[in-house]
Amino acid sequence: MPGSAATLIDRPPAAELSGAALFLDFDGVLVDLAPRPDAITVPAPLPALMARLEAATGGATAIVTGRGLADLRRYLPDVPKMAVGSHGAERAGGPAHPLAGSADLRAAERFVAALAERDRGLLVEEKPLGVSLHYRAAPHLAAELEVELARFTAARPAFELHPAKGAFELRPPGIGKDHAIEALMGDAPFAGRMPVYLGDDTTDEPALAWVARAGGIAIKVGPGESCAPYRVAAPKDVHALLAGWAEAAP
Ligand SMILES: [Mg+2]
Repeated sequence: MPGSAATLIDRPPAAELSGAALFLDFDGVLVDLAPRPDAITVPAPLPALMARLEAATGGATAIVTGRGLADLRRYLPDVPKMAVGSHGAERAGGPAHPLAGSADLRAAERFVAALAERDRGLLVEEKPLGVSLHYRAAPHLAAELEVELARFTAARPAFELHPAKGAFELRPPGIGKDHAIEALMGDAPFAGRMPVYLGDDTTDEPALAWVARAGGIAIKVGPGESCAPYRVAAPKDVHALLAGWAEAAP
């Protein structure tokens, strides 16, 4: 497999859901990536699978996504109850982040919109706490865009620049899926359980590393470099894996 780490073992071990805390990225893990973030389709069995996992883990199942929470809930309205959005800056039931609705956020939206006007292959995704600039249809622009965005974040400490799959993201500093998982693991019903994380993107690597260090099961989905010792190929394989774990649960 290209980009495999030396320690890579493909097949994940069986997770005992009764003792597990299950953290799941959304795009590229539970749903297939689409040309646009709003063009994904949710497989019909997914909500029922989420409900089974949530029950089998005693409620210790969470989606951990880069999407805003409200956006995620358009696709998975009810289950699982716990979800973390905006890469960890939004938590279901938690307080609002100071960047929400701020002048800094509007400045970032204007800056990225101006970049996107230059080329019809670029797509802007406004988020509650940041902006993503998707260049999947115009990959030749990536290096130039990164320079421009880095210049913006150098002048605006309210943001960090993060590369993702076919996109650059501006988001608040000091947040990350790893911090979000660590915080959830400090609270019921997650505390004291073995963490399991499935993620597909570079933005999932810190969370995969955190879970591996904590003695949990870190699983990379799809191709590409990863620190995770386990790997599955695609969302359909994630569904099969999770359904198997749920099947084996008491
Ligand atoms: Mg993803």
